Amino acid sequence: MKRTEEMVSSLRYDALQKRWVIIATERQHRPQDFGAGQSITVSREHCPFCAGREQQTPPEIAAIRPLHSEPDTPGWRVRVIENKYPALRISNAVWELGAEGFYETIPGYGAHEVIIEGPDHDKSFIDLPSDLAFDILSMYRERLNVHMDDLRLKYTLIFKNHGATAGASLLHPHSQIIATPVTPRTIRMELMSTLKHFAETNRCMICDMVQKERDEGERIIYDDGTIVAFANYAARFPYELFIAPARHETFYNRENDHTLHCLVNCLKDVLGRLRTLLSDPPYN
Ligand SMILES: [Zn+2]
Ligand SMILES: [Zn+2]
Repeated sequence: MKRTEEMVSSLRYDALQKRWVIIATERQHRPQDFGAGQSITVSREHCPFCAGREQQTPPEIAAIRPLHSEPDTPGWRVRVIENKYPALRISNAVWELGAEGFYETIPGYGAHEVIIEGPDHDKSFIDLPSDLAFDILSMYRERLNVHMDDLRLKYTLIFKNHGATAGASLLHPHSQIIATPVTPRTIRMELMSTLKHFAETNRCMICDMVQKERDEGERIIYDDGTIVAFANYAARFPYELFIAPARHETFYNRENDHTLHCLVNCLKDVLGRLRTLLSDPPYN
């Protein structure tokens, strides 16, 4: 395929592993590994995510801020910006499937955003007031809705790196969103497993998992009737958690405000217990 100057990244298909790999040359210039593009040594005095330094970040994509207040000015509660070193970009809108021999490549169309979780520099998610924590979770919902409306995008991942060893390069609390034009292999596998389970039993696999955990009770960590958290039966990491709604729901962005309020309580509880137990461990 012809490569254009403005194409900062592309996706290449690994036919052997059956997975797409993001090739992002621009990201090699970022000062630290996967993050907002800042070194962990950035102090509060120079932090671009703090209120009053909005001009030092890429322009605001969305925000929860007072009505009639200008974008990129202080006063916001939650702010969404493009990652300074994006792995994928909406402006990579050239949509063509390229082939180099039997290799496949497509432009790095997509989104890579940072959600700044409040103007406070060193309050972690657990310490935030519940209404601000709710605003963050509802911003996730809003961004998922936006990306879901773009039919060229197949999958959106929201993730958070807490602590330096978990990959956070900037201490100011933030999470990231990656929306991709392909479905990752692990997600494809999950979709196939749940589809097979449904074809065989006429039941939802996640609902069956929740039911099984509730019946046994052994691994349940949190259950308020709306949100259930349990230790993953086949956990790959210590303290790996599975969090699911108690009733059947396919999409996070279809959850109502009540469920998100319950999710805030659940996250504060389980993350708070992890912090007490393990003295503020890094997590994803
Ligand atoms: Zn800050
Ligand atoms: Zn279900």
